[in-house]
Amino acid sequence: MRLMMKSENAEDCVKTKFKKNDSVVVISGSDRGKRGKILKVDRTKGRVIVEGVNKRNKYLKPSQDNPKGRLVNIEYPIHISNIMYFCDKCKKGTRIGINQTEKAKVRVCRSCSKSIDK
Ligand SMILES: [Zn+2]
Repeated sequence: MRLMMKSENAEDCVKTKFKKNDSVVVISGSDRGKRGKILKVDRTKGRVIVEGVNKRNKYLKPSQDNPKGRLVNIEYPIHISNIMYFCDKCKKGTRIGINQTEKAKVRVCRSCSKSIDK
């Protein structure tokens, strides 16, 4: 069982407890206070893309489908140090803790111990 857990390459992997679809709140930068859902976690860079956060215009080069090129407004990744888990029960950004049960490790809100993974 232990050997199977070793698949993660610790060296090029940033340790984070965040997962896709977690609801988070931004704690610094121009989007401070904004809340959203994690769309993507980039563990190698320690960055996440959060729905509606850090949106910028990007110019798409002309292609056959769109000969004139086009501006799109998309979310850019932000560093995980700029976000906190948003707990529904606490109504604020909290830290994620780990609760070891008999069967598995469960992520919980560190303030109220509510389980994050249902
Ligand atoms: Zn909580």
